[in-house]
Amino acid sequence: MMQLIKDLWFKRRDIISDGFDESLEYISKIIPLKIHEIPSGTKCWTWTVPEKWSVKEAYINDLDGNRILDLKDHPLHVVSYSLPIDKVVSREELLEHLHTSKERPEAIPFEFKYYEKDWGFCIQDNKLKEFTKDKYKVFIDSKFEKGDLKVGEHTIKGKTDKTIALVSHLCHPAQVNDDLTGVAVSVDIAKAMGKKDNYYTYKFLFVPETIGSLAYLSQNEDVIPKIEYGIFLEMLGNDNIHALQLSRQGDTRLDRIARYLMKRNLKNFKEGPFRTIVGNDEMVFNGPGVDVPMISISRYPYPEYHTSDDNLDIVSEQRLEESKNLILEILNIIDKDFTPKRQFKGPIFLSGYDLWVDWRENLELNRNFEKIMLNLEGDKTVFDIADELNMKFEDVLGFVNKLEKAKLVLNMKNNE
Ligand SMILES: [Zn+2]
Repeated sequence: MMQLIKDLWFKRRDIISDGFDESLEYISKIIPLKIHEIPSGTKCWTWTVPEKWSVKEAYINDLDGNRILDLKDHPLHVVSYSLPIDKVVSREELLEHLHTSKERPEAIPFEFKYYEKDWGFCIQDNKLKEFTKDKYKVFIDSKFEKGDLKVGEHTIKGKTDKTIALVSHLCHPAQVNDDLTGVAVSVDIAKAMGKKDNYYTYKFLFVPETIGSLAYLSQNEDVIPKIEYGIFLEMLGNDNIHALQLSRQGDTRLDRIARYLMKRNLKNFKEGPFRTIVGNDEMVFNGPGVDVPMISISRYPYPEYHTSDDNLDIVSEQRLEESKNLILEILNIIDKDFTPKRQFKGPIFLSGYDLWVDWRENLELNRNFEKIMLNLEGDKTVFDIADELNMKFEDVLGFVNKLEKAKLVLNMKNNE
């Protein structure tokens, strides 16, 4: 995962740009991608795909020719989607177009004006005091042209075409947590899920934030009814605890599985309802007319957010692994889960069916199997039972699988 991040992090991955396309190309060499191309100007419900943007050169000089700021030093020095400019401006006018971070005066902030049509630079706040002259030459050689918004899609077909979507965005130039960590974790999850026999179909989408999800869904509306759940991933490499933002519905099986695993597997995590922690592509999926319950898993907030300090120094492979394993476990449960329906009457003659659980082998299961047998009326899934009895999912599943084999319960998933 760190290799992908190291290779891609410093690229100019603006929403429609060569850097974005190259990054998708890079990912497609690890996992095959179907690349959707949606041309600039395409109506995506109430939105319109913007133009492609590129910048060759950008600087601020004083009138003696001294360079005060140069895009060559850092990709974040120019506002993403800035208009071109070549002009001498007053200090006052320049300051209106200089963006800084007061909280992190040594860092360059990430600013974007995709739809506002303005020009601007980003600079360390503690460098503002260097602007003492009356006039400056500002130069931004940027270009707007027709292009294609690109969305990378990797599909792993399951037994059913009911789909779980994993979404991450790729459009934050020269930053790591937001948003490459979500991409790196997602790619690794795709590799792991590709080796399994899955019930669900899994779709991994790599998009430019918000507009990418809107473009993909609006141009592929037939996919929407198939997507049963979604997970949005980003900001997974910093040292904060995990944050689970629930779907808009808030109490779907996916929401409850994520909470259950975070409680059991993590020392600490926080949880909040929809729109109380972050706002990303899950707003599109949870949005009106789409209505896909999508949770978000991140380690938000962190102090380096949207600045040049969100770099390789603050992420670790170990934390990415921890997030990846957590999400793989969520998918493992949701994929294996099913509703068992009782086919027996009275307490089961356990030893007759070789179902007796020795307390020396599994004390928790030994104490609970009677309760499991009382919960097989077809209104609860295996996960519901595990959650209610505060048991390990695999223990309940193993026991119920034995009942199924002995034809004592019916697996409702096979009867759909
Ligand atoms: Zn962001």
